[in-house]
Amino acid sequence: MSEVYFKPAEDIGPEQTQIDQIRTLFPKISPVSEGDIVAVKIHPGELGNTTHVRPVIIKTIVDLIKQAGGIPFITDTTVLYKGKRFNGVDLLYTAGTNGFTLGSMGAPFISADGLNGDDSVSVDIGGEVIDNITVASAIAKADSMIMVSHCKGHPASGFGGAVKNLGMGCLDKAGKTAVHEVAIPSIDIDKCTGCRKCVKTCPWDAISVEDGKARVARDLCHGELSCFGSCNFGAIVPPADAPVKMQERLGEAALGPVKLLPEKIGYINWIFDLTPGCDCFNFSSPAFARDVGITASKDPVAIDKASLDLINDRMQHDSGGCVNNVWGIDPVIHLEFAEKIGAGRMKYDLVRK
Ligand code: SF4
Repeated sequence: MSEVYFKPAEDIGPEQTQIDQIRTLFPKISPVSEGDIVAVKIHPGELGNTTHVRPVIIKTIVDLIKQAGGIPFITDTTVLYKGKRFNGVDLLYTAGTNGFTLGSMGAPFISADGLNGDDSVSVDIGGEVIDNITVASAIAKADSMIMVSHCKGHPASGFGGAVKNLGMGCLDKAGKTAVHEVAIPSIDIDKCTGCRKCVKTCPWDAISVEDGKARVARDLCHGELSCFGSCNFGAIVPPADAPVKMQERLGEAALGPVKLLPEKIGYINWIFDLTPGCDCFNFSSPAFARDVGITASKDPVAIDKASLDLINDRMQHDSGGCVNNVWGIDPVIHLEFAEKIGAGRMKYDLVRK
């Protein structure tokens, strides 16, 4: 059983700010040794997103790492979709715009998978569906890592927390493709109007319009599905089993960074602004549940299971719903696969002190 430390949102007030809560939780999960180069893995938010983890939280963690003798840098990886984090330059621009600058943080922001998203270290994980995964170099080569995850909904996994941050957020483009490639869509030609909106959305030139109908080139498609959101006619059809198959891969891929940094990762889940969509969205929708608080653990699976249970308890109390209802997806699947491959344990002991 893994310990998960919890500071509730209800306790926040003049005598106990979120900053105070982070200062209390950090020593319980810190893997930082004197002289460590420490990756602070965050999601800085897509350009336009306003509900990503706040810079002041990350600045607090940076200061705590320095106090522990570590040398911190803040990091994230490039993405598969055509947003403002597609390459290393855009990623730094977006991180800076969203508040994560050297001046504000006291630590530099580094694109973990380099300029083009291909700077990585390959690691054998021996899973049922993924044998080998590519982890972004700056994460793979760090001495230790503090992973700060904003808990929220997600259209593919139902929920995004620490396991998703490991099994997707720590990978280079090839690694992300290995998780997404089970989601290559087909086109419902009866619904397709040939408007070409999906063509403009795809960064991989995988969609063309011929004879007035869209076509997907399977050899070019990375399965990132930004085309799905772009189509106003419901003509882009992902495989029905994509949410389950992607979660299987996501859960297994989480072992990559864990295996490269054994006993050297501490996890903090920030359970505020529980938006249905993830921080890759270039907007922020209203929350589907009230703020819960902050959890911290040395186990990525336990912290996510505890965070999910806390959110579900809150939703049950307030409205009778649960996270599964947000996208019609059971997010526990990716946690089960993460546990099965050895990335962590589902059973936890919630410590509220
Ligand atoms: S966006 Fe939809 S309707 Fe337009 S071309 Fe693509 S699949 Fe067809």
